[in-house]
Amino acid sequence: MEVNIAQLMKSSIGAERLYDVDEAININGEEVQVKGKVKLVRTDRGILATGLLDAKLIIECSRCLQPFEYPVNINFEEEYFPNIDVITGLEVEIPEDQPLSFTIDEHHLINLDEAIKQYAILAIPMKPLCQTDCPGLCPTCGKNLNTGPCGCSSEEQNQGGLKIQGLFK
Ligand SMILES: [Zn+2]
Ligand SMILES: [Zn+2]
Repeated sequence: MEVNIAQLMKSSIGAERLYDVDEAININGEEVQVKGKVKLVRTDRGILATGLLDAKLIIECSRCLQPFEYPVNINFEEEYFPNIDVITGLEVEIPEDQPLSFTIDEHHLINLDEAIKQYAILAIPMKPLCQTDCPGLCPTCGKNLNTGPCGCSSEEQNQGGLKIQGLFK
């Protein structure tokens, strides 16, 4: 999502613009529809972007390894600095610790995709589950037990389950 902030850069500090967002953004290699609001505020150095967005990511269940839809809130706040002064057209020095993806280019565009992506990925849990009681894969034959029981005896499955629990507890 690109926003032209030339006008906002010419406004006084504290001036703000509110945008409705409903766009497909590539997150983790998938086109994901992102919806919500982004607020841009003119600061003394650049533009502060605040996003309150929702998206449904497609991620892999950590137990059964099947992809599933995972709703996330993407709430971000990042300050963008210009590398060109909007009035004089002269180059502006960007603070050293500023990531390049959070700069405002010479066309006065800021691209919010990188912030949205980074915060979306942060919102993914370490061990996502397609459902809280996902039975996962049979430890013996590897069948996805969400699709029904496999041919292995339940005794073998329980042993496998205990082994796995033992590893993680
Ligand atoms: Zn699962
Ligand atoms: Zn099995």
